[in-house]
Amino acid sequence: MKKDNYIAIVLAAGQGSRMRSDVAKQYMTIYDKPMLYYSLKVFQESDIDEIVLVVGDQEADYCREHIVEYYGFDKVKAIAIGGKERYLSVYNALLVAEERRSKGVYDGEHQYVLIHDSARPLITSKIIEDTMQEVVTYNAVVVAVPSKDTIKIADETGIIKNTPKRSQTYIIQTPQAFEFNLLKQSYQETMKHTDLEITDDAMIVEHGSHHSIKIVEGDYKNIKVTTPEDIAIAEMLMKVSCVIA
Ligand code: C5P
Repeated sequence: MKKDNYIAIVLAAGQGSRMRSDVAKQYMTIYDKPMLYYSLKVFQESDIDEIVLVVGDQEADYCREHIVEYYGFDKVKAIAIGGKERYLSVYNALLVAEERRSKGVYDGEHQYVLIHDSARPLITSKIIEDTMQEVVTYNAVVVAVPSKDTIKIADETGIIKNTPKRSQTYIIQTPQAFEFNLLKQSYQETMKHTDLEITDDAMIVEHGSHHSIKIVEGDYKNIKVTTPEDIAIAEMLMKVSCVIA
């Protein structure tokens, strides 16, 4: 039987305005390396076949030279340009992967796509391995951790409307992984509804298909660096996780 192909889409476009910084957060340094470095390193050392990196309009040359080539990330086979919203950045990467697929670059039985935010520099090889394994069974998986807090649903004025059972609430992380055709077809359907606020990849499949999506156990340390204090938290977590010596 032919081996399956695994393509990682690593997202590093967008401005990260909540960081209140002139430097886009994916290039802010953590222990002297750009944040993007850490995700690329873990994917580079995983069993993933290739990486499609997504960067901002003006950043492709900089990233190729100063990050991809400088650190020797030779699994980065293509660089896509990001879109206005995160889900449009993923879509652009999918189009690049689709083109590579049509050229016969992927010769496996199935193709799977793992989508990851470079703003989560504490991704681990275990999370990637578990995601790769589970997507083969379920075709659609998201990494998540059980919510430690009670979650409330409120209206626009801040009035609480209901409280989902805590045992059924999860904090969603990345990677999120899908069988290639399922994701592509779900995008085609979901893109017809432009009024949706799409904040993760699973929503594309939720809206664009009836396929169920399985949760893969994540890690509380796999935080998303969003606001300035998260940089200090990420540095502390890296130290305790021995990501850096
Ligand atoms: O802004 P936010 O924290 O939601 O971004 C999550 C991830 O999505 C980041 O890694 C960021 O680089 C990426 N992103 C993107 N294109 C956008 C917006 C965000 O690639 N238009």
